[in-house]
Amino acid sequence: MKNDNISFHGGKVSRSERYSVLGQKGIAVWMTGLSASGKSTIAVETEKVLVSMGKAVYRLDGDNLRHGLNSDLGFSEEDRFENIRRAAEVCSLFVDAGLIVLASFISPLASMRKLAREKIGDGFIEVYVKADPETCEKRDPKGLYKKARAGEITDFTGVTAPYEVPLSPDLVLDTEKYSIDQCVRILVDKILQLSALRQRNGLYRYERHKFRQE
Ligand code: ADP
Repeated sequence: MKNDNISFHGGKVSRSERYSVLGQKGIAVWMTGLSASGKSTIAVETEKVLVSMGKAVYRLDGDNLRHGLNSDLGFSEEDRFENIRRAAEVCSLFVDAGLIVLASFISPLASMRKLAREKIGDGFIEVYVKADPETCEKRDPKGLYKKARAGEITDFTGVTAPYEVPLSPDLVLDTEKYSIDQCVRILVDKILQLSALRQRNGLYRYERHKFRQE
């Protein structure tokens, strides 16, 4: 419940100062796609490559968050929205901190992705990890499609719950057409472009200078 007696307590360090310290902009790479489309696999490999380049990265995985922060939530539409709302809040904090966040959430409805985009704002990109439902069902690395077909899992995206294909994603990774390595390379390139600080002029340099003087 909302408490009217709580106000926002600002600090003395700006977002750009944090970005200067890390040498990168915080961004949220929101990966949406069917179960088994390849979101987690690509996120894990992308994280490894970026960290080897000295980037500060953090992976937020839908399944992993459901063990902790979102462990009280199920898969009804209401719970799925709450799952995404909380994930987007966390993403937004990490972007503010300066991290490159690799967020893998099925986020099946366009309205859920819109919620995340609006919550995170600048630095959000929607990446559609694309694979046909039949391919995902054939891959089925966790046996979830099999369970869904057997009626052991209800509200399973692509089987008994809808997935709305993104209409204007910022990037599409077609995991049927491209190998894991190729997808990772495409994604890493995009991330390096978007997280790069402006060089030597503009706000970042000015604020770094101010920061050093204090
Ligand atoms: P998700 O996180 O979307 O549920 P996973 O990453 O857990 O999907 O599973 C994707 C499966 O598809 C893995 O078994 C992976 O090895 C396989 N796969 C095959 N080709 C690709 C590709 N190009 N990109 C990502 N995964 C792929």
